[in-house]
This record gives sequence, structure tokens and C-alpha cells, in this order.
Amino acid sequence: MSEDQSSAELQDLYRELILDHARKPRNFGRLNEATHTAEGINPLCGDKLRLYLHVNSGNMITDVGFEGSGCAISMASASLLTEAVNNLSVVDANSYFASLTTRLTQQDNDIPAPENVDLSKLRALDGVSQHPTRVKCATLAWHTLHAALTQTTSIATTE
Ligand code: ZN
Repeated sequence: MSEDQSSAELQDLYRELILDHARKPRNFGRLNEATHTAEGINPLCGDKLRLYLHVNSGNMITDVGFEGSGCAISMASASLLTEAVNNLSVVDANSYFASLTTRLTQQDNDIPAPENVDLSKLRALDGVSQHPTRVKCATLAWHTLHAALTQTTSIATTE
């Protein structure tokens, strides 16, 4: 198999994964027991979401949920986020935020992640780094996560 073929197949696989998460978002819905919540808005595309987190006394994220509406990338990214950060410590979740947003905004998929961060589950989002207008769709949920965890603001915006 040639290099091109395998990378095209990988892209198809990732496209399928994005569409699957967009059609059937994981952990969709409000968390009644949320300890942290924030709203995120990407005015450029019209994506809107609210993220709910339950953080226990040991600073571990024990439950994640979101609701909202927007394009496939924004919904899939939020869905992937809920799976990636559940059962992480708040510190590790913030490391994920920093690593992923850096990688997507600097259009460099080879930026190494910190030791405790495994971005492999989020590889499907790497494709958007080639499309600057979609980067904000993909990072919206992560900015919202950061806002919820730091509680600096209740509304995160990509602008
Ligand atoms: Zn969007």
C-alpha cells in the first residue's frame, strides 16, 4: 500500500468518526449534579454549547455532559471531549486543552504533548488544522472546558 493511499484511508476513517460523533453525540444532555459549567459560542459559524462537569473533592472530573447545536465539527469535538476528559484530574484536563488548542492553531500535528496527555483519541480533529475557519469549530468545546474549570468567565467565545 502506498503512503498516499494509507493516509487517504486514515482521513476517511477520521471523517467517519467525526460524522458518527456528530450524529450520535456522546454524553449529550444536562448534568443535574454539575459543579462547573460554562457556555461557549463561536459566532463565526453559529456553534453554541453548554458544558457541564462534575468535579469531586479530589479534583477529579467524574462526569461530563454537554448540550448545544452547531456544525458537525463542533458537535463531534464536544462529544470527543466528553470522552477524553472524563475521569481525568482538573490539571490533566487543562493540559489537554492547552496541548490540543496549540496543536490545532499552530497547524502542526507533531507538537509533542505532555507526558500525561494522550491525544491519540483526538487524532480525528487534526484534519481541521489545515482549515483555519474550522479550527474555531473544533476548539470551541475546549475553550468552554477551560472556562468552566477556571471559572474566569461564564461565556467562552472563539472571537
Ligand atoms: Zn462550526
